[in-house]
Amino acid sequence: MSKFKVQIRRRNIPDEEILADLRRVATELKKDTCTKVEYDERGNFGATTILRRFKQWNQALQLAGLDFPNRQNVPDEELFENLADAWTKLGKQPVGREIDKTEGLSKFSLGTYEKRFGSWNKTLLAFEEFIQSGKTSGETSEIAKEIRPGKRRTQRQINWRLRAQVLIRNSCICQMCGASPAKDPSVVLHVDHIKPWSKGGETVLENLQTLCSVCNIGKSDAVDES
Ligand SMILES: [Zn+2]
Repeated sequence: MSKFKVQIRRRNIPDEEILADLRRVATELKKDTCTKVEYDERGNFGATTILRRFKQWNQALQLAGLDFPNRQNVPDEELFENLADAWTKLGKQPVGREIDKTEGLSKFSLGTYEKRFGSWNKTLLAFEEFIQSGKTSGETSEIAKEIRPGKRRTQRQINWRLRAQVLIRNSCICQMCGASPAKDPSVVLHVDHIKPWSKGGETVLENLQTLCSVCNIGKSDAVDES
């Protein structure tokens, strides 16, 4: 016969155990951070326990070695890259509330964007300008053209900004079969050289298109390389 057992509320849980649980939740979410709401849903201790212990949520994230997304010193470019990433995952322009409400979509909260740019609409306008300006980040095709001697004007690698331009221009729809993550979240989009790089195709907007992973593999088989 099994012993009668009572449940004892544990006190004095070591800090490290709490921080490890915070990291576990972030890993489960496939992110390098987690919000209070996300932790309350999946954590073993509750966000209030963490706040009581560490005073501030960001402090706990920092001690756990996680990213603390409300920090003020995130470069604009990182916020934009995250937005491009969210856009690609959704297969459409994100609505402000989706940034907070869609699990695993964004590393940064809607509040972080609003604080930086004034509002979500202003964020989108600043993003558009950044994506189209093509001047910073040191790996745009223009710069590649200057530093690369020889026949090729560009590098094969497509930087995130060019990738975002292609995805947005193609409305995040596969140009061969029409698949889109907006309709089917299992669809993964790639950016493909229309004229293959191996056949002299350059890494420029006009020679790039959005393909789903299935069509991209099919095309690679057909032409040997994408
Ligand atoms: Zn396709």
